[in-house]
Amino acid sequence: MSCRTYLIKLGELTLKGGNRAGFEKLLRRNLVTMLRARVPGARLRTGNGRFYLTLEQTPETRGEAPAGGETDETDSLEAAVEAALSRLMGISGWAKTRVCEKTVDAVIASCVEEARALLSRGAGTFKAEARRTDKSFPLTSYEICCAAGDAITGAFPELSVKMKKPQATINIEIREKAYVYSVDKKGRGGLPVGSAGRGLLLLSGGIDSPVAGCLMAGRGMGVDGVYFHTPPYTSPQALDKTTRLAELVGAYAMGMRLWVVNFTEVQKRIGERGPPAWSTVLLRMAMMEAASSLARACRAKCLITGESLSQVASQTIENLSCAQSRALLPVLRPLIGMDKERITAMAKSFGTYETSILPYADCCVLFSPEHPVLRGGVKEAGTLYESLCLPPLIAEAVQSAGVRKCGYYE
Ligand code: ATP
Ligand code: MG
Repeated sequence: MSCRTYLIKLGELTLKGGNRAGFEKLLRRNLVTMLRARVPGARLRTGNGRFYLTLEQTPETRGEAPAGGETDETDSLEAAVEAALSRLMGISGWAKTRVCEKTVDAVIASCVEEARALLSRGAGTFKAEARRTDKSFPLTSYEICCAAGDAITGAFPELSVKMKKPQATINIEIREKAYVYSVDKKGRGGLPVGSAGRGLLLLSGGIDSPVAGCLMAGRGMGVDGVYFHTPPYTSPQALDKTTRLAELVGAYAMGMRLWVVNFTEVQKRIGERGPPAWSTVLLRMAMMEAASSLARACRAKCLITGESLSQVASQTIENLSCAQSRALLPVLRPLIGMDKERITAMAKSFGTYETSILPYADCCVLFSPEHPVLRGGVKEAGTLYESLCLPPLIAEAVQSAGVRKCGYYE
C-alpha cells in the first residue's frame, strides 16, 4: 500500500548555519498554525532538511478505496494544504508524493502508479530522475531510472522516455523510505514570518502597498497595517476593500492587525491652509508622523510603504525625502526600484490584484492637486507643515483609531 504525503523543501533558511534550528522551528510553527483549523489530523515530520506532511484522513492513508464522499473530503483537505503551502514563507517548493517501502518492487509499482496519473493529465513523454541517500538500496540511481522507465513504457506504450525537455519528470528519492512524485510546485521562498521583527505597513486600497506587505512578510517580517480614510469623502466600500486586502496580506503574514485611522480633519486642515500644489506631499508627511506614533504602540520596528521611485509625482526622490523627514523609524520601500508591470505581476501572483483594482477611490486620489509640486524641498516642506499645526489633529486621529484582526488562521 502506498500513501500520500507532501514533501516540503525548505528555502533560504537552509543557509543559516548555527541559527537554522530556530528558523526551522518557526517555519514548523507557522505551518502547523495554518493547518490546525483546516486540516485536522495532519502529521508533520522533519528529516533530511525537509518537512514531511501526511494527511491522516485521506482514504488512501486509511488503505480504503476512494469512494464518492471521501473523494470530496480528500479533495478539500488537499486544497486546504495547497492553499497553505502556497502562502507559507520560507519554503522553496513542495510535492505531493507517494511513499512506499524501500524495495525495488514497491518503488517500481509506485512509479507505474505515478505514470498512470501522468497519463490522465495528458502527458506523452517523461523521464525518471532518482536520488538515493540510502546506499544499501540494491539499485544505483541510474539503475532505478532504467528499471522505472522500462516498467512504465511496458505498462503504458503511449508514454515514451525523453531525456531533453520531457513533459513530465518522475522523481524517485530513496531515503529512510522511498518517495515518488512528478508534480513539483514552487514555494514562495524567503524566510519564515516572525524571524525578522515586525513592521507597520501603510496600506492603501491600491495595487502597490499590498505587494510591499507580502514581500516584507517573505523576508520574515511580521506585518501590521494602517489605513487612513477620509469619511464621508471616501466610501465604506473603500474601507471594506482595504480590509479585504489586509486579509489577503495577513494570510501570508500569519495575521495582521489593521488600524483604521480617520484622517478627515487632517486632510481638511491641509486643504484649507496648505498651498494646493503641496497637498499630497503634506498629507504624506502627516501619514508618516501618524504611522510612526502607531508603530511605537504596536512595537513595529519600521514603516513599510508601496512607493516606487518616480511612479507618481509624490514619489520623486525629493518628495519621498519630504515624507521621510516626518518618519521616526526606518521606512522600508521594497518596490522602490520596480516598474508597474513587475509590481502588477507580483500582485497577481499574491492574489491581491483583483481586489486592488476594484473601483473605490482612497483619500489621496480624491484630494490630489491638478499641478502637484514635483521636487519639494525638505526645508520648505517643513516650514509649510509646521504652519498647519497638525500634531493635535494627528494625535486625536491616532488615539481614536479602530483596529481589526485580518487574515489570522486561528
Ligand atoms: P498604492 O497602490 O499602494 O496605493 P500608489 O501607487 O497609489 O500606491 P500613492 O497613492 O502615492 O501610490 O501611495 C504611496 C504609498 O503611500 C502607498 O503605497 C501606501 O504605502 C501609502 N498610502 C497611500 N495612501 C494611503 C492610505 N490612504 N492609507 C495608508 N497608506 C497609504
Ligand atoms: Mg494609492
